[in-house]
Amino acid sequence: MKIGVPKEIIDGEARVALTPSLVAPLINDGHSVIVQHDAGILASFSNDQYSAAGAKVVATASDLFAAANIILKVQPPTKLEADQFSKESTYVGFLAPLTNADLLRVFVERRVTGFSMEFIPRITRAQSMDVLSSMSTVTGYKSVLLAADRIGKMFPLLMTAAGTVPPATVLILGAGVAGLQAIATAKRLGAKVEAFDPRPAVREQVKSLGAMFIEMELPEDAETEGGYAKELSPEFIKKEMEAIASRLPKVDVVICTAQVFGKRAPILLTADMVKLMRHGSVIVDLAAEQGGNCELTKAGVTVEHAGVSIIGTVNLAATVPVDASQMYARNVINFLRHLYPKGASPDFNDEIIKGACITRNGEITNELVRIALGQGGRK
Ligand code: NAD
Repeated sequence: MKIGVPKEIIDGEARVALTPSLVAPLINDGHSVIVQHDAGILASFSNDQYSAAGAKVVATASDLFAAANIILKVQPPTKLEADQFSKESTYVGFLAPLTNADLLRVFVERRVTGFSMEFIPRITRAQSMDVLSSMSTVTGYKSVLLAADRIGKMFPLLMTAAGTVPPATVLILGAGVAGLQAIATAKRLGAKVEAFDPRPAVREQVKSLGAMFIEMELPEDAETEGGYAKELSPEFIKKEMEAIASRLPKVDVVICTAQVFGKRAPILLTADMVKLMRHGSVIVDLAAEQGGNCELTKAGVTVEHAGVSIIGTVNLAATVPVDASQMYARNVINFLRHLYPKGASPDFNDEIIKGACITRNGEITNELVRIALGQGGRK
């Protein structure tokens, strides 16, 4: 196959879908690799590195789309990009299919086989392809650095000749992949860390990282069979908010990561609760794109309320482009190798391939997406 890697064009996107070190493994698998000039430059990967690894570097995106029959990307393509894809080509990357009906229409018209990396089932067999986990790892890490940069305090306990500096206290709401990484990062910086997550298994994970778990009676049915949080009852959320409110006067930083798959993120911090925090405190809301865990959060901007900064961060993984690209590219190549095992054709009955495939043969094939877009399930 001819694998093409264009330069990302969305503002703020510095990642690239394939890094130079992964070009040779694809060539060894029998593919050829075409990379657009400067595709990796914002992630510190030069054109020379791609050429030296055996890729052909082409000048423009249209040259690339004309030559490639598999396109690897990070961000979903714009309509303008997708219009240039070769007929019957294959796309692998983020696709946000539930909110991208116009783009899917282009895929259907051009008979593009579209794979959405975020739709790869989160089963053990597919862990090495899980972009949600790898990008959440980066996001959790960077969220703590953002808070540390914004707040006018240091994180560690310091005993100096100029006196003792107490450690900062960081509260993490939601301890999934991003939350656990945020805990680990805040601990490494020397902060006192507290966390809460309603899934029972998380308690031990939080404690094993040296953080304090905020104890409260957990709902019995907090988790789905796949290990995800369910949407919790208003009664439980009320109790949770009371527990959070009791911690806020002593907290310097709150990192919000609480999400429920396919739903608006739960509101856990109201404007009145924010007023309980000390002047100069910081909230980083990683759930901003899903509506935010704080009711004051605005995606993409920082809001000030009663002296507290509420950072509504979006696409944070793109601000650590070197490692984020390396992790993302590894997920993508693991998926590609699963798709074309030793040169064979894809098995569209395989759970991973079927789950990630959104469009094929001129139609939307994914049940969840068909239903979400009002096209109805297939018989
Ligand atoms: P996510 O980003 O959807 O949610 C983040 C966290 O928010 C979750 O831990 C969730 O429990 C929590 N949350 C939901 N409601 C909350 C509330 N009211 N208050 C506080 N926290 C709340 O999830 P994620 O981090 O992508 O993944 C969550 C879990 O899924 C992982 O920790 C893991 O157990 C599982 N997982 C399994 C695999 C696999 O391959 N088997 C892969 C990835 C993740």
